[in-house]
Amino acid sequence: HVKNTGKNHYAYFDKQMAMHLKQKLEIQSNLRYALENDGFKIVYQPQVALDSGKIIGYEALLRFKEHSISPVEFIPVAEESGLIIPLGRKVTFMVIKQIASWIKMGLKAKPIAINFSVLQLNDLEYKQFLFDTLKQFDVPPELIQIEITEHIFLDNKSSAISFMNDLRSNGIKIAVDDFGAEYSSLSYLATLPIDTLKFDREMNLKLLNHANVEVIEKLIAFVHALNLKIIAEGIEDQNHIRLLHLYNCDVVQGYYFSKPLEANEIIAIDKHIYTF
Ligand code: C2E
Ligand code: MG
Ligand code: MG
Ligand code: MG
Repeated sequence: HVKNTGKNHYAYFDKQMAMHLKQKLEIQSNLRYALENDGFKIVYQPQVALDSGKIIGYEALLRFKEHSISPVEFIPVAEESGLIIPLGRKVTFMVIKQIASWIKMGLKAKPIAINFSVLQLNDLEYKQFLFDTLKQFDVPPELIQIEITEHIFLDNKSSAISFMNDLRSNGIKIAVDDFGAEYSSLSYLATLPIDTLKFDREMNLKLLNHANVEVIEKLIAFVHALNLKIIAEGIEDQNHIRLLHLYNCDVVQGYYFSKPLEANEIIAIDKHIYTF
């Protein structure tokens, strides 16, 4: 039996906080190093249309080449440190360059989704950077979909909306990511300039349970009534795919079909037709 004195208690928490800070600083220095030394790569996760079983696009997901640190850990550090601004541009550049290289190899070009952090709204030149890079590599804007979370509408709703309108009027598609993860409001959806709604993995898991299945059926119908396309994320279970198909969900992205893949693996899989 260990006597838990107040003193030990504080010592314990001090140590935890110090480790946390040390870890953050380490990730920050990994980010800086990778930014300057070509230390990142992008993996691509197929998005599968349920009506045809065909891959209709991919989501671009960022990875370190040399570390296994998850973006769940390093993206918040990038956001806190401001490194998300150069990092966001780096991802955009790498993806567009990759699309151009796939097109050159004769692959039929499909839209690629890029995750966009709320804090990148502070990068006032981002839009121009995106358009310039598309032009540089001769990639049509229709091949880019920007994924943003609902956080973007919290602080500065009007500047977020004008940003999205600018992108869309130039042919770029917009998706709302992680819908259902937090305070998702159905009423505001109708007013947003968006094309696609991505259903969050946790919400899908909850709603694809026996007891809630009527809710997801109605939710899908409602979102379709707003003329939005639905991508269900994080689906691992065949039975869930069958239900989503039954209720007319458009697209599924999840380990059941494929994990995120290296750019050179896309060539082999791109024409695959999935069955379920
Ligand atoms: P997200 O945008 O919601 O991306 C989906 C995440 O779910 C990815 O994790 C993906 O690998 C994972 N996933 C896909 N299918 C399944 C499945 O069936 N089961 C499970 N358990 N997970 C699945 P990842 O790649 O670790 O990325 C995590 C998050 O980090 C992303 O969530 C996104 O918010 C952020 N992120 C990743 N890359 C970037 C980036 O380039 N820029 C920004 N700003 N954020 C990024
Ligand atoms: Mg995403
Ligand atoms: Mg998501
Ligand atoms: Mg997420």
